[in-house]
Amino acid sequence: MRSAALLAAAAALAACAGTQPPAGSDGSGSKLPPYFADPAGWEIVDLTRILDATVPFWPGRTYFPFECWDLAKMEEVGAFSRAYRVPEHYGTHVDAPAHFATGQATMEGIPAAALVGPAVVFDIRARVAADADATLTAADVEAWEAAHGRVPEGAIALLLTGWGDRWNDVAAYRNFDEKDRLRFPSYGLDAARVLLVERNCRGLGVDALSVDRGIDDEFPVHRLGSGLGRWFLENAANLDRLPPAGAFLVVGAVPMRGASGAQARVLAFVPRGD
Ligand SMILES: [Zn+2]
Repeated sequence: MRSAALLAAAAALAACAGTQPPAGSDGSGSKLPPYFADPAGWEIVDLTRILDATVPFWPGRTYFPFECWDLAKMEEVGAFSRAYRVPEHYGTHVDAPAHFATGQATMEGIPAAALVGPAVVFDIRARVAADADATLTAADVEAWEAAHGRVPEGAIALLLTGWGDRWNDVAAYRNFDEKDRLRFPSYGLDAARVLLVERNCRGLGVDALSVDRGIDDEFPVHRLGSGLGRWFLENAANLDRLPPAGAFLVVGAVPMRGASGAQARVLAFVPRGD
């Protein structure tokens, strides 16, 4: 006779294989998030860039590339481990509200619930192709809402500019002009105001170096959002694999104490079409 434990394990395996719904199958009445109730119904899209020394990082005077070194070597002590050194705003990372406003939260102060939410994706690739200074405008948000409905409360807005196609070319991604100004697209202040103030988005993300355009060197979007206690996601990858609406994000930002920003593993749960 099989034990109750074996039966429970078999039920769990069957659930993993998608052969039976796991929710409540152990008789406990436990609830599962939609993904775990139907893993085959969702695609997990990784919005994270690989972290290494080749990353096209923000060209700040005091910035430096990722460095790492061995702390333990397999051939010496039978285990492998390393240490690393990296600017907070490097690679796929989150800006804490404290980045552009005093008295706002540093990374460890961002509540976990503020780092998950429904994703809304705005696509301005067509305009960016003709204009590196293109912005998301309030009119774009209005047009998106006419097609997809109102941006939901607590959404995470993502801006697909197509700039990520330049990721492996440092000079092209930064795109300095002849006057030594950065030129890349991002949010316009009017759109940021609609999303952050009127729609109460938890955060804004972009597939470029900053939520402000390269030429917007007064950082108006950063200042607005930081002042409101919101966070930003920069250098996001794979935004072209997300639908305009319907995906769900988990922004796994490191809660480093006192940090102005930190690297993040960002995962999107995307419902599969029928
Ligand atoms: Zn940043």
